[in-house]
Amino acid sequence: MKRISHWIGGKSVCGESDRQAPVFDPACGIQTAVVDLADPVEVDAAVAAAVAASYEWRWSSLSTRTAVMFRFHQLLDGHRRELAAAVTAEHGKVLSDASGEVARGIENVEFSCGVAHHLKGGYSQRVSTGVDVHTVLEPLGVVAGITPFNFPVMVPLWMIANAIACGNTFVLKPSEKDPSASMLIADLLHEAGVPEGGFNVVHGDKITVDRLLSHPDVDAVSFVGSTPIARYVYETGVGHGKRVQALGGAKNHMVVLPDADLDAAADCAVSGGFGSAGERCMAVSVLVAVGEIADPLIEAIVARIPGIVIGPGHDPASEMGPLVTAEHQKRVAGYLDRAGPEGAHVVVDGRQKSFDSEGYFLGCSLIDHVRPGMAVYDEEIFGPVLAVVRVRTYDEAVALVNGNPYGNGVALFTGDGGAAHRFESDVQVGMVGINVPLPVPVGSYSFGGWKDSLFGDSAIYGPDGVRFYTRPKVVTARWPVPATSVVDLGFPQTR
Ligand code: NAD
Repeated sequence: MKRISHWIGGKSVCGESDRQAPVFDPACGIQTAVVDLADPVEVDAAVAAAVAASYEWRWSSLSTRTAVMFRFHQLLDGHRRELAAAVTAEHGKVLSDASGEVARGIENVEFSCGVAHHLKGGYSQRVSTGVDVHTVLEPLGVVAGITPFNFPVMVPLWMIANAIACGNTFVLKPSEKDPSASMLIADLLHEAGVPEGGFNVVHGDKITVDRLLSHPDVDAVSFVGSTPIARYVYETGVGHGKRVQALGGAKNHMVVLPDADLDAAADCAVSGGFGSAGERCMAVSVLVAVGEIADPLIEAIVARIPGIVIGPGHDPASEMGPLVTAEHQKRVAGYLDRAGPEGAHVVVDGRQKSFDSEGYFLGCSLIDHVRPGMAVYDEEIFGPVLAVVRVRTYDEAVALVNGNPYGNGVALFTGDGGAAHRFESDVQVGMVGINVPLPVPVGSYSFGGWKDSLFGDSAIYGPDGVRFYTRPKVVTARWPVPATSVVDLGFPQTR
């Protein structure tokens, strides 16, 4: 059985604790590996390696770090297929989707290649007689990243690229459900020239995370995962004096106005709701149908569902893969049991689709007449289940979106520029799409939800990532004013 160990000080290190977790291929339900789970002693070893590498790395020149990030970018580019295959094998998403994830992750490395520009400070000459002021952005030291199962390449790269380019060293605690991709990333960073200890991976669970949150040498923590754990990580990390950004779960609404292009809206509801089996933090999970568009929109989506090819992620014909674990599959299916008794109408029940496999497959579901107060509306399902809420007006739609405790992503479908412009200001959500179902910002912007979707005041990657992984310093300097006002430089001076 394959064993996935930690990466500490530039090499693979077997765990010393006797704690391990199984890793499965979700497409067939077979265990393919075991992953070591780190105890505090292994976390301490990883943090010590990061501390030891910190001095050399923070003093390295910007051109050295830029060159390393360019090499890392090239290596990622050359290993796209291998990375995508590792994602598919343990997460289950289809290869085209996994390749898309790798591409979006590489965007973050591309951004970090501009670190010399991103770290430019300000300079004011003669703020007072003989006094100049300038700012510098310094690295924090050792930073930790704790990542979810659903993007095992992209989300670590959201953090690693800027953190390392800015001169920090890093300890990653990836999801124990699909840990292999992080080991490939470690290999590539090593090959790119990040010094030993500059990047470390400890696999693990709550015990591992708790040690990272309390370790005195960890200066900052980036977390991406579900809202209850995000809240816990934020409160615990801040309680230990750390800088923390913790991105949580979501319940993303897609509002469709009566004037929207029906086919485009139906296509986007299907891809946004069922793509990656709904296991995306930006997935469309609530379709808000405004007025008379509800019936034709539902009809168009229902007509599309049988055409979605569900199968193993490595099969190029598959458009949707299995869910990540048997437990998660059961949990998602459980929402379909509850919807009817709560008063909703299950129009398409994904449980009725049969699969010739022991994998964790579940068909796509559509539930109509959903309202707040029902579990399918109130809770993050994180599966291929689309809930439809019917409202009469634009104002009702906005009130619904703003009344939800999450505020990650939202989309509006309309042909009316005025309505779109107004919506942009009316909604209390961090990322807004206009005729775009999953408005994930490109790498030169930053990603972050509002309300229960983000704890802390910093979004992730892009410019906010640079700010999060650096500390500004303001230097005020006085130098003697020259005694004469003209310096003889040996050639004519202009005034
Ligand atoms: P999760 O919260 O269960 O796990 C995230 C990380 O926290 C993992 O590394 C896990 O090992 C660790 N963890 C789990 N339980 C813990 C505990 N009790 N104490 C300390 N650490 C713990 O999330 P998941 O199931 O891996 O991922 C899916 C969730 O992530 C969804 O809620 C999704 O919306 C969210 N997500 C959010 C974003 C975003 O950008 N906002 C992006 C991707 C995923």
